[in-house]
Amino acid sequence: MANLNDSVRAALDACGASGYEGPHATRTPLTGEELIGTVEHTANDVDQAIAKAQAAFREWRNIPAPVRGNVVKRWGELLTEHKRDLAVLVQAEAGKSMSEAMGEVQEMIDICDFALGQSRMLWGKTMPSERPGHRLMETWHPLGVVGIISAFNFPVAVYSWNTALALVCGDTVVWKPSEICKLSAIGADALLARAVKDCDAPADIHQLILADRAAGEQLVNDPRVALVSATGSTRMGREVGPKVAARFGRFLLELGGNNAAIVAPSADLDLALRGVVFAAAGTAGQRCTTMRRLLVHESIADQFVDKLVAAYKTLTIGDPRDESVLVGPLVNKASFDKMQNSIAAAQEQGGTLLVGGKRVLEDQFADAYYVEPAIVKMPSQTDIVREETFAPILYVMTYTDLDDAIEVHNEVPQGLSSAIFTSDQAESEKFLSASGSDCGIANVNIGTSGAEIGGAFGGEKETGGGRESGSDSWQAYMRRATNTINYSGELPLAQGVKFL
Ligand code: NAD
Repeated sequence: MANLNDSVRAALDACGASGYEGPHATRTPLTGEELIGTVEHTANDVDQAIAKAQAAFREWRNIPAPVRGNVVKRWGELLTEHKRDLAVLVQAEAGKSMSEAMGEVQEMIDICDFALGQSRMLWGKTMPSERPGHRLMETWHPLGVVGIISAFNFPVAVYSWNTALALVCGDTVVWKPSEICKLSAIGADALLARAVKDCDAPADIHQLILADRAAGEQLVNDPRVALVSATGSTRMGREVGPKVAARFGRFLLELGGNNAAIVAPSADLDLALRGVVFAAAGTAGQRCTTMRRLLVHESIADQFVDKLVAAYKTLTIGDPRDESVLVGPLVNKASFDKMQNSIAAAQEQGGTLLVGGKRVLEDQFADAYYVEPAIVKMPSQTDIVREETFAPILYVMTYTDLDDAIEVHNEVPQGLSSAIFTSDQAESEKFLSASGSDCGIANVNIGTSGAEIGGAFGGEKETGGGRESGSDSWQAYMRRATNTINYSGELPLAQGVKFL
């Protein structure tokens, strides 16, 4: 296999990145070896980046939105050209299979297409005025500087959802990527810099901050940052939300999930099996939408769970630079330790480990953490099942009545993604109804992960309530003004009020 840092350097060169090398190195989850080090920005650099983004905003907001759209169009073209280069960087830092890393970059390309179209559709409504000779309407305006804080597991895609929309909406962006995914951030930002240059747009509309969480806290506390869009753990969101609210800033939170699927007796079990295995074991359980809980009808439970266990035994685990590998590494030792602790807690709480959970390839990679995805059968939804453990553990429970299953499904603090496998239309409608799944994403006959960019993405409760990507998510990046225009020559007051 080619030397990893040689591949990483070649990918960064191809993206047009320069001047990034420095003493701050992280370890790749693939082998545990150190990656190329980067520079580290200081608090003063963060302050300067916000100031530059704020100054650029004054110019950028006046450029017509469809012209702003040209920048994301060009970015999408460059991402298409350098899809594999960026995927190499994503793989090196997040440990994904090449197919999933390429999929992540494809998501960036898709949101560029979407945002380009949206640049001609930043539409407001008109409403009938109650007064004669008056027009009532709303207009949408750019918000200002958007601070983006992103997580390690989708190091570039979630950033691009925010950036592509923010830029067409007339905002400027300051991005603090995950501290363990700086190289993919440098690659993605270098491609955006090229797009900005090719379109003659103001150079400072995008800023990249390479630093740890203190820089994120600085963005959170700075009143010049109009919107903080933060993706990561619920712990992080719990700290970020109140701080931004205290200064009357806006926030958009995309936090942890604890996603479940119900498998009903009428389900196509082969389809359900493939859907469950991809959602639960894919990306080594490190997606916010990873399936972590499975509720199977008792009449099919034994048969379905046996098939699931058999399918888990066929999963290929290893260095995902080998393209036949399906399950790559956990991101680090802390993640592996958490997985072990959660399995032990589940067993203490009455669970039975059916398959997996063991570290593998330890003799080959002392500092990389490859693990067999685990299935634990639980007698009920205990405390550990209510927590998000960011690793491949699937807790399996059985049910007899769909209403009870939905009750258990919703009885966790998180509310991101959900699914039902059924061929019974009444069951599927019930799951999607007001008394069904309480999640931001509710699917039928498809797993919990792998959303398309066209829909709004996000979840309820401790997942944070934010919506990003498609549908009307663009509105989060703009401010709305209601305009009343009087062309009557009179001054009638609303609600019939008389004065003077
Ligand atoms: P994390 O919370 O450790 O870190 C996320 C980011 O927040 C990092 O850039 C970090 O530096 C920053 N940060 C941490 N504390 C902060 C603070 N107090 N103030 C400002 N910034 C702070 O998360 P992670 O381990 O990188 O990612 C995994 C988590 O992210 C999981 O819980 C996963 O479910 C969640 N996630 C959610 C979504 C979603 O869309 N809902 C998407 C991806 C990941």
